Amino acid sequence: METIITGIQPSGNLTLGNYIGAIKQMVNYQNDYKTYMFIADMHAITVYQDPERLHKNIREVVALYLACGIDPKKVTIFIQSENPYHANVSWMLECVTPHGELSRMTQFKDKSSKHLNFNAGLFTYPILMAADILIYDVDYVPIGIDQKQHVELARNIAERFNKKYGETFKIPDVKISKTGKKILDLQDPTKKMSKSENNPKGVIYMLDDEDVIRKKIMSATTDSECEIKYDEENKPGISNLMNICSSMSGLDILDIEKKFKGKNYGEFKTFVADVVIKELIKIKEKYLEYLNSPELDKILEDGAKITTEIAKKKYLLVKERLGLYR
Ligand code: ATP
Ligand code: MG
Repeated sequence: METIITGIQPSGNLTLGNYIGAIKQMVNYQNDYKTYMFIADMHAITVYQDPERLHKNIREVVALYLACGIDPKKVTIFIQSENPYHANVSWMLECVTPHGELSRMTQFKDKSSKHLNFNAGLFTYPILMAADILIYDVDYVPIGIDQKQHVELARNIAERFNKKYGETFKIPDVKISKTGKKILDLQDPTKKMSKSENNPKGVIYMLDDEDVIRKKIMSATTDSECEIKYDEENKPGISNLMNICSSMSGLDILDIEKKFKGKNYGEFKTFVADVVIKELIKIKEKYLEYLNSPELDKILEDGAKITTEIAKKKYLLVKERLGLYR
């Protein structure tokens, strides 16, 4: 059976972009793959997080995974910082990663320009992500397109390491959903919807109330035409809503164009709001049940134990390959 892994940073409230780009894919794949899902809390601290808020966010992300339909019997769920080997392997990978390659990462360029006095962790973030992936010898990493460059870096690191020190890592590939690869900010469809940076008006949070979701969708930026037609370049706002609609309803883009031929943007937006609300409201109800359940702690304890054992083996192998042994 092939293996997949994905993680989300507890750096804020999860968005519809996180749901469509990452979580929803995992819900579909969990029956067909050996699956790992983690809370990337060590990635989150690459920019300042209020410790108390971070602590709460970590649990909230786990509860959301479960509420979305991630089945802990099929998926190993764990908190990154509860497994000490990720950071250890990351250090060793850091020492085989060219500085120049790392400085080409667009997420770093983007985030470092927004954080005055950004820290070194923001720069080395992709190497920790490479460790997260390479430790588990995964075949695929389901993500949004914004993380594709980081998986490509992980591939390069693995290939280079294998060549220099002998076969150690499996080479991973990405899995990117067609219509959910990049959900855009509703107010500014030139940038991606993000949990930690954007204006909240342009971001649908998974736990937003029904009326808030409706308002955000109804006031999404569109264009001066009135045709519901997919055109990323000239109609980014409408195309974004079409992608959201397709991901949430299962209708493909052509079906949506046909269904809304001759209809106005208001009618289309109402339909999009309906399908988004229908799915997110169900998730929210379940989320509240999971949040304080002891079951959640048991799942995390099992996850930490299982993944620490696997990671320790890989850590020892990498150490040996590098000559770090007595
Ligand atoms: P941050 O602003 O803190 O970076 P984020 O919203 O980008 O938060 P991440 O934790 O960095 O979320 O990413 C988690 C997963 O969600 C990744 O697989 C990422 O590719 C995916 N993702 C994030 N935003 C989007 C989006 N707008 N569309 C599709 N996928 C997304
Ligand atoms: Mg991000």
